[in-house]
Amino acid sequence: MPNATYLDFNASAPLKPEAREAAIEALSVSGNPSSVHQSGRAARAIVEKARESVAQLVGARTQDVVFTSGATEANNLAVCGFAPVSEPSRVIVNVTEHPSVLEAREDFERLPVRPDGVVDIVLLQRMLTDRDWRNCLVSVMAVNNETGVIQPIDEVVSAAHAAGALVHCDAVQAMGHVPIDMSGQGIDILTISGHKMGGPRGVGALIAKPEVHLSAIIRGGGQEKGKRSGTENVTGIAGLGAVCASVGAYAPNVDRAKGLRDALENLVRERVPQARLVAANSPRVGHVTCLALPGLPAETQVMALDLDGVAVSAGAACSSGKIKTSHVLTEMGLGDDIAGSAIRVSLGWNSTDEDVEAFLAAYARLADRARG
Ligand code: PMP
Repeated sequence: MPNATYLDFNASAPLKPEAREAAIEALSVSGNPSSVHQSGRAARAIVEKARESVAQLVGARTQDVVFTSGATEANNLAVCGFAPVSEPSRVIVNVTEHPSVLEAREDFERLPVRPDGVVDIVLLQRMLTDRDWRNCLVSVMAVNNETGVIQPIDEVVSAAHAAGALVHCDAVQAMGHVPIDMSGQGIDILTISGHKMGGPRGVGALIAKPEVHLSAIIRGGGQEKGKRSGTENVTGIAGLGAVCASVGAYAPNVDRAKGLRDALENLVRERVPQARLVAANSPRVGHVTCLALPGLPAETQVMALDLDGVAVSAGAACSSGKIKTSHVLTEMGLGDDIAGSAIRVSLGWNSTDEDVEAFLAAYARLADRARG
């Protein structure tokens, strides 16, 4: 049974109607997009239409979009497939990146964040001047998935480009919330994911400017111009294209979600004064709040809220469903009392006042029980 109150959009957003419609339509087209016959060409047309929608949304050229099985694969392709002209390839990575970046390689140079969760640009500039960084990569996400903190991508690009390095930006949690324009901002490689935007799960894209040399990590049939072999997920790609094309129409929903998040935080301050709001004064998106209840493990909170019909996440849930202490909060210098007791509440396109009220009621009950 799904939760009556779903406030876990950053884990996976409910499917938007446009995506559902496009995906269902694509399901009835049975050709392989690589086949030259009519059925194949019909499937190819779906993929290419979606490619245009993705490119338009992110300010890139259509031919620079590579469809993948999601952002995890796209991030792996970005940081492992990055193949500069002159070896060895070097990569500087923000320490609060998603594990699909952090665990993709072992030879990173780590870029720390300040206590507010924002990358230390002064330190980045210093790191970039200590040696020759031409043909190297700096990977910084646009928006953090656990805290909603917005990274200063324009400053990262300026610093990196001044040193001759390129920039990879995981924009998974930014799409639809923070403007992303690869050509205007100078971002060289970008990652997006379908299901974080209200599209289907299991589809994403890596968009890379032509001057970026990417070597495939999945090889075989040579699809996606040899950058990602394997028959394209036509259904998922159709859904991803549809959500990209409709981002503008959802602007009022984004504003409404921010209003609801702000109301939720004010109510938490009022009704659960012992709660700590993490990154509340940092630059951040309007639909996420990270709340800690020191003394009560995040896992316990998530389970108790679930029993009350409310779906939220703890900092970092791994695939086993177990909850690890959040590396994001630890890197911000927060101790175990906060990092181990923080939950993430993330709202989205169809969130309502009732969702906020239901969360508040359940959260206040939980906090009261914990106080004894
Ligand atoms: N990057 C970020 C910032 C994410 O939040 C996630 C999903 N939690 C991913 C990458 C991985 O996305 P996917 O589920 O599409 O593999």
